[in-house]
Amino acid sequence: MDEAGLELMTIEAITRDGAPGTVHRGRIPLGARATGAEIAVSYIVVIGEEPGPTLWINGQVHGTEVCAIVAGINFCNRLDPKTLKGCVIFTASANPLALESRTWSTQQDFGQNLDTMFPGRSNGFVTERMADRLFREVMAVRPDLLLSMHAQGTDFESMVYGVYKLPPDCPVKPEQLYRYMRCFEPFVICHQSVKPGSGEHPGNHAGALDYMALANGIPAFMIELGVAQRATPDQVSFGAACYGSICAELGMLPAQKDHPKGVKTWLVSERSHCNSDAGGMWQSKHQPGVLIKAGQEIGTVTDLTGLFADTVIVPKDVLLIAVRQDPVVHTGDSVAYLAHDWTHLDLT
Ligand SMILES: [Zn+2]
Repeated sequence: MDEAGLELMTIEAITRDGAPGTVHRGRIPLGARATGAEIAVSYIVVIGEEPGPTLWINGQVHGTEVCAIVAGINFCNRLDPKTLKGCVIFTASANPLALESRTWSTQQDFGQNLDTMFPGRSNGFVTERMADRLFREVMAVRPDLLLSMHAQGTDFESMVYGVYKLPPDCPVKPEQLYRYMRCFEPFVICHQSVKPGSGEHPGNHAGALDYMALANGIPAFMIELGVAQRATPDQVSFGAACYGSICAELGMLPAQKDHPKGVKTWLVSERSHCNSDAGGMWQSKHQPGVLIKAGQEIGTVTDLTGLFADTVIVPKDVLLIAVRQDPVVHTGDSVAYLAHDWTHLDLT
């Protein structure tokens, strides 16, 4: 223990040696700032009275995405180990540097995206070290399910949705993930491609936390909960309830009263950003979740003299996953997140 009463053990050691019915809180140091301030991964580990599965909730990899962190703290603080079978591990932030700098990416490393860095490198740049430190713990524990929590960017509007990626020859089948994703009542579930040039944000998505977990046989997916830099009471309560539902689905908690029954959603097999050619002020009348037919406009970009306008039209039918709310766009900025291929998915 340190002077604040926090444990300085590895999560793996706690799950191995911790007594049933105990709660552990601590930090795993991975380095220091120039001022001497510690860089560390913080954790809460709740060990149930009875044995059972292990659920790992990672609250954020992107520093502005905070709703799931608050939901996770509240969930763990209200969790009674006496009623729990198994173990809940909550790591609030895989990216404490970006959390502190209030930025999506890691500024110390010139804007690296931590979610393209896993499994990381123990003696590398700090973003690689953060990835390494968390992922080594994940691999040592091998949870039965890992949730990689995210949030919609502040410049966009969307609803709660799920994302998974499938490594080649993945031993985990998508159907195994859907039953847990259902707990978040996602309006879409996206199967994200990790191939370069597929219209995703640039970067090595095969270096995502959930992808690397799956590649190592650990069921994992992403949830987009809430909007970056916001933790509204409704979304926080919803997130905490969803964590409870996941535990119930895993058999770790009794059935939850808010547990969703049948959930109708869309399974998206192809998606991309829609990037603006023009610069100016973006406007769209559409809400997330709507179908936009081929030839219809998603929105317009008008220049600051009010004269020139570029109309963004879709050449084929699309489902709107997210739409930009911040009107300021430069050439190349994303104005919408579009599904190009989707089917109904009934999750009962
Ligand atoms: Zn994110």
